[in-house]
Amino acid sequence: MKEPENYPDDFKDCIEFHGHVCPGLAIGYAAVKAGKHVMHLTSSSDEEIVTVVENDSCAVDAIQKLLGCTFGKGNLVFRDWGKQVYTFYDRNSGRAARVALKGEMPLRSTMRAIRQKIDSGNATPQEIEEFKQMRNRSIDMLINSDPNAIFEISEIDSAAPPEAVIVETRACSVCGEHAMVSRMVHRGNDMICKQCEAEIQ
Ligand SMILES: [Zn+2]
Ligand SMILES: [Zn+2]
Repeated sequence: MKEPENYPDDFKDCIEFHGHVCPGLAIGYAAVKAGKHVMHLTSSSDEEIVTVVENDSCAVDAIQKLLGCTFGKGNLVFRDWGKQVYTFYDRNSGRAARVALKGEMPLRSTMRAIRQKIDSGNATPQEIEEFKQMRNRSIDMLINSDPNAIFEISEIDSAAPPEAVIVETRACSVCGEHAMVSRMVHRGNDMICKQCEAEIQ
């Protein structure tokens, strides 16, 4: 098993960006590796790589760090579906790959029982140590395995989500703050922002 100081440099970069090391981050790292396996992705300086992520977990930070896909650039798209699925698009080549974790994170079911004990304060020091070891092993498996062993990888024939466009804004007739028209809701003859809509209900 690799000790943390022996992690690959690009994984260390992810850890620095994310703030801690965890199996979730390793999933994102491995997903990018899987995408590279089929598509020769490089870091995106100007929106040519687009990633659609189907969760907002730790994994997404590895994708931001390694591929330069960010919310701000509009080339990171979040679908709140709670799945460990990542779809990479390369606008230059027109290729796309869907990378889906097979089943659960490695060792997750084994770790679950000990985690419950730890959370309830009933774990022995030995069990806590065992948990740490398993967690490290899970990270190790994710960053070192053959991507095909962990993910279902398929090249897909699908266009990238549309590029970011400058959108029209309008003042909300309740709070007066400007909001993107496409995100506002009609109320009688007026248009109001989602925040005001939420507060009225
Ligand atoms: Zn994390
Ligand atoms: Zn408002």
